[in-house]
Amino acid sequence: MFAKTAIKAGIRILDDELLFSISDSTVDEGIEARITVSLEALPSEQQQEFQTLHCPDHPTWIPLVSRYLANCFELGSGASGIFLKASRINHSCRPNAFFSWNLLLHRMTIHAIVDIPAGEEVTVSYVFPFFALAHRRDVFRKHYGFECDCPVCCLELASAQRSDQRRHRIETINLAIQECDDAPSNNDEDELEMVLEFIELAKDDHLDGQFLAHMYSRARECYEDRGSKELALKYAEMEVETNMRLLGEDNEVTKESARDLEELKAVVALM
Ligand SMILES: [Zn+2]
Repeated sequence: MFAKTAIKAGIRILDDELLFSISDSTVDEGIEARITVSLEALPSEQQQEFQTLHCPDHPTWIPLVSRYLANCFELGSGASGIFLKASRINHSCRPNAFFSWNLLLHRMTIHAIVDIPAGEEVTVSYVFPFFALAHRRDVFRKHYGFECDCPVCCLELASAQRSDQRRHRIETINLAIQECDDAPSNNDEDELEMVLEFIELAKDDHLDGQFLAHMYSRARECYEDRGSKELALKYAEMEVETNMRLLGEDNEVTKESARDLEELKAVVALM
């Protein structure tokens, strides 16, 4: 997919209709049957359209499963679905667009993350873009059957190593932050420090995505817990700005973060 004209950051490039979905995307022996049942419920014309999507050669999966898994998008709660236009957008490890399932519209939306000049390819990231190179390559080979040749994967050695070190550190921090959720007794000080380091590293590597809004939200909570309302407000504003740009104002997640921001503003105004 290429931009015919210049596209400003935050513009909705596409909202795409769901072709079909499965409620359980676990890759087990039942997945072939689940895809078949959903696919065969479609009119034959639409079934044929699914067959036009890219199908990587996979050592163990049959083409139906391989085609489904290479093109599906997560819809939340273990479900996934196929979208004929969105499924054709290529991957980049530094994408210029972001996809998300809009529960209220029941459509897949694609927003420009940055200003995209006319003629440039529109790309999204098929994985969390902060995954380190070895991790990304492994997923691309096993799951999608391609070798990534995006600008980040083709950086000259020294820059590639710096980028990879940052992403490696972000991945480590992300796991440690998740552990904070499993062990709530952990020090709040440590969590805030990790969240701020994550945000800094992501910015240094020009990484963008909803994971940033999630980190802004965590920073807001940490500052609220320690009574730093002004700093909490700053991160709440960044969270809403990111959600607006990546998801649009009609997304449930954006609406919720905007409500939280208004509540916080009211509290700060009373101080
Ligand atoms: Zn890449």
